[in-house]
Parts: sequence; C-alpha cells; structure tokens
Amino acid sequence: MESAIIFGTSEVVYAEELKNMQNIESIDFRCRGCSVKLIPSSYKEHNLVAPHFKTLKKEAHIDCDLEGEIEFRTSLKIQKESITNGYPNSYPNKLIVRNTSIKIDNSETNNETKLNKFTSKPNGASSDDKENKRHNSTAQIIRKLCLTYLVFSEPNVLSNMNLDASSVGIKGNTYSKVFKLIPNNMTAKHPSKHIFFSEITWKKPLVDGDIITLILDRGAWRVEEDGKLIEKKTVEKYKLEIHTTSWSESKRKYILQEIEIYRRLTRLSEGSKKSYVFFIGEQKNEDIMCFTVDDYKYITFLGDDDRVL
Ligand SMILES: [Zn+2]
Repeated sequence: MESAIIFGTSEVVYAEELKNMQNIESIDFRCRGCSVKLIPSSYKEHNLVAPHFKTLKKEAHIDCDLEGEIEFRTSLKIQKESITNGYPNSYPNKLIVRNTSIKIDNSETNNETKLNKFTSKPNGASSDDKENKRHNSTAQIIRKLCLTYLVFSEPNVLSNMNLDASSVGIKGNTYSKVFKLIPNNMTAKHPSKHIFFSEITWKKPLVDGDIITLILDRGAWRVEEDGKLIEKKTVEKYKLEIHTTSWSESKRKYILQEIEIYRRLTRLSEGSKKSYVFFIGEQKNEDIMCFTVDDYKYITFLGDDDRVL
C-alpha cells in the first residue's frame, strides 16, 4: 500500500515519506481502510523497490476499499499513457458491488492479475460481459470507478468510456452519464440515480448519533436583487447526511477518518487542491438541499492528488 495511518491518530504517512522518518520500527502503522496492522517495507537507501506498506504474512485486509490500490493505480497509469483514438485500452466498465459474504475469486492469471486483484469478476457475472473480458473488468467497489473517473477526466475521454452500473439502478452507459457533479442552482428534485460527487468544504462534519452531516461545496446560487445581476451569492450549500446505523464501528471510524484526511488536504493547500466525496444516495423529499447515503459501500473520498498516478 502507498499510505498508512498511525494508530490512534488521523495522521497519514505516505510510503515515500518513510525514508525521512525516524524510529520507524516503533510506529504502529495501520491500513486506512480496515485497520489491519501494516509493516513499512523497502524504505532503506539501498532498496530498489519503491517504499510501500504490507501486511504481516498471516494477516489480510478485511472488507477493505484500499486493498490492491497500488496495483490498480499502476494499471490506470499504463492505460492513461496508452490512450488511442480517445479510448483507453482497459478500464473497469461494470459495477457489481461486492457481497462481503462471498469469497472473492482472485485466481486470475498473468497479465490480468494486477487489474483483477482489485476488480475481479465475481462468480455469476453475466455471459455478455465475456466479450469485454479481454480488455475490461468489473469493479466491486465504487472507489475504483471514482478513481478511474478522476484519472480520465483530464484527457476528457469519459464520454467514450462505457460503464454499466445498472446493478445498482443507475441508468446511462458511459462514465460521463453515470457520474454527476452536483450542480449549483439545483433547486428541483433530481429523480435519476447517479454516482454523485461534489467538492467538500473545510468545515468539520457534524456528528449527531448515527448521522454524520457533511457540508458540500456546491449550492444554490441567487442573483442579487432589483432585477439586475449585481453579485452572485451562494444562498445555501448542499449537505450530505451519512446514516451509519447499520455500519460496524470500524466502518464508521474509517469514514470519519477519511473525511478528516481529505478535509485537511484541502485546508493545507488553502483550497488549491480540491477534495471530493463520491456517493450513490438519495435526495430528501422534504429537503432538496440534502442528500443521504446509508451504505458504506456507496461512499468514498478522493482528492486532486489522486489524479496523479
Ligand atoms: Zn485494509
């Protein structure tokens, strides 16, 4: 893994920072995604392999969004460099959200292993997907799709990239149609499902029992009075309520930690680097400025730094 968190804090350490750190052996590094213990590796001067974190031999990530992310990023980088005629050669083009009670089959071979470790095809995937098997893959967590979206938004080829998210009720067949930036000025009920995303603000989330409320950096705008366009003002920002009632304590802790990490990234860069929340959620009937999400598998955070592979 390329980053870890210091146990008991929300301090993230990136693998490339290890070379400059003291007393590494005494630090308790954990996976950001599932808290499994991690060991810093290959951080000494003479090491040829890039520094990284790994699990102890007999331990494994559990229901973890970040497992295999290094390999996935590497594959995205290769694909980004190989875009021809507006298409990357390979990317996740289908979403089948993992069922955590099913053992994931990672027994793919050779050149498919790297991508599929992260996006392996679950048992029972439909046969019409076989046609795509050579090049494309199925994502089991939305984080992979969101990372793909960010990475390929720069060359702006998203409308050429197919994506089938019908398994979670999302219509649209390309990345650009499945994803939707929450618009400013959205004052009506927005009926169709998407993977919504928005910049987040520096503000601390409000935690009230099982509900974590996050202020989004998108809002309804209004032109100031007398029929003239004098100044545009945000009159109200959108909110995202994260309902954690059915979540384990570790998932709740994970999401609070991720909010803190990405909030801080934006704050430290004084806003020059944006952080985003991506989610599959509902807009409240009684309050259209508020979205809700209640499944931990349907929310993830990424930032501008994640575009760089
Ligand atoms: Zn993990």
